[in-house]
Amino acid sequence: MAIPSHVQYLIIGAGIHGLSTAYHLAQQLKARGRGDGRDILVVDKGGIAAGASGIACGVVRNNYFQPAMRELMAHSVGVWETDPEGYSYHPVGYMQISPESMHEDVASIARQQKEIGYESTFIEGEKDSSDYMKTLFHDWQAKGITSVLHEKRGGYANNTKAIYALATKAEGEGVRILTGCTVTGFKSDSAGGAIKAVETDLGDIGCDQVVIGAGPWAKTVWDMLELPKTVSIKGADGVTHDNIPMWIYWSLQEGTLGVDPELQKTNDGKFPPVIHVDSNEPLYSDYDGSLLTDKMWGIYYKPDFHFGGIQGGAAPYAIQTDPDDVAVDPYGVDSPDFIVGEDFAHMWTSALAHCQKRFEGQFEFYKNEPSGGIGSFTPDSFPVFDVFRENCYLIADSNHGYKMLGVGKLVAEELCGDRSSLLEPFRYSRYAEGKLHPVSNSPFPWS
Ligand SMILES: Cc1cc2nc3c(=O)[nH]c(=O)nc-3n(C[C@H](O)[C@H](O)[C@H](O)COP(=O)(O)OP(=O)(O)OC[C@H]3O[C@@H](n4cnc5c(N)ncnc54)[C@H](O)[C@@H]3O)c2cc1C
Repeated sequence: MAIPSHVQYLIIGAGIHGLSTAYHLAQQLKARGRGDGRDILVVDKGGIAAGASGIACGVVRNNYFQPAMRELMAHSVGVWETDPEGYSYHPVGYMQISPESMHEDVASIARQQKEIGYESTFIEGEKDSSDYMKTLFHDWQAKGITSVLHEKRGGYANNTKAIYALATKAEGEGVRILTGCTVTGFKSDSAGGAIKAVETDLGDIGCDQVVIGAGPWAKTVWDMLELPKTVSIKGADGVTHDNIPMWIYWSLQEGTLGVDPELQKTNDGKFPPVIHVDSNEPLYSDYDGSLLTDKMWGIYYKPDFHFGGIQGGAAPYAIQTDPDDVAVDPYGVDSPDFIVGEDFAHMWTSALAHCQKRFEGQFEFYKNEPSGGIGSFTPDSFPVFDVFRENCYLIADSNHGYKMLGVGKLVAEELCGDRSSLLEPFRYSRYAEGKLHPVSNSPFPWS
């Protein structure tokens, strides 16, 4: 495709956010008689699903401790449900299985799910939790679990399939997707002013509105826009903390046990909800019985034919390297630095065996192939959805946003002039104003 000299809407990134925005914006423009998909160009330096969206586990859940996140996720789950087949979305549900230290947090999630009409069952107490899990899996054996939140909606989607489906939907609306085109900078008439053109390795493209869905490259684009490297955050104590890095990187730990996905069916022969277990119990090696950790740990897993086995992950770790020096490229499974190693495989397969007897002795089937990838995180690990430089809409989900299919729809509405109350709690100004989201006791940065 020859590059156009000017487009009305230029979207950077053909991942879940760029493509969802493109598709929904095309629909919005048409419905309002203000144009259509031909006014939109998506550019990507790689291809469709070349970033985090193409390697994500694909879990879609509501379970968040922060009320604003729960409301936003309930909206996104609704969007997944509009076309489960098209999006390769498996609405099997989701279970948060927790120790006593998280009991009260999860109880509050259950209460709020009731308030917003998001269907879930909440089980409390060690015996009742164990009994409930055994009605699903006869071999359930995790100890020290005192609550189970069973979300009846949510589940997971097959990562690349959903993104290709979104691309097809967007192109069906007339959107153009230009792959192999790298954005290298921005042009404006005044320092810090609105963007007039996007510089790419194929030439400049003039535009009226930019949308950025750059996933793990959010910091790279942020730097190109010459936005501040650090942020001041007003804490709960009312004190403002200066010089907090705007972006840091975390490495996500995921892998696949290469067994028949049918191994993980429920007692009644169905495919189960996505399982997420957090635990304070000592975790012993399923390989040699050694103590792997006596600190809090957490894992998630699901049977997944797309990955060819039982796929899942464990808590990520923060990358200590100066964010300016972290190599995001080559990305994902091509990265020499940020793919998971033997430690992850040992811990995760042992944790599977800790939870369900059927996984004991199965570690030898762990797929020894590159997996995992890094993500660009905001200072509080929650998304920033906001406009910068007057006409650049940044969708930065802090790397837990595959599930956030609906965000592109809401962004499209905002681009057409309708402010969204669901996106409001995620503005950049929350840092300076101290309007922060509550923090949970989960070992994961995104719960
Ligand atoms: C291993 C792993 C597992 C995950 N599992 C889950 C999960 O189960 N559930 C969940 O909700 N989230 C999950 N996530 C997070 C989720 O994948 C991301 O939050 C989400 O995919 C980000 O979508 P995006 O569209 O913003 O970015 P991406 O999908 O990364 O797309 C960004 C695109 O921008 C392009 N790009 C970047 N810079 C430029 C440039 N300069 N010029 C042109 N193009 C550019 C890239 O090539 C890329 O294709 C996971 C992430 C990882 C890494």
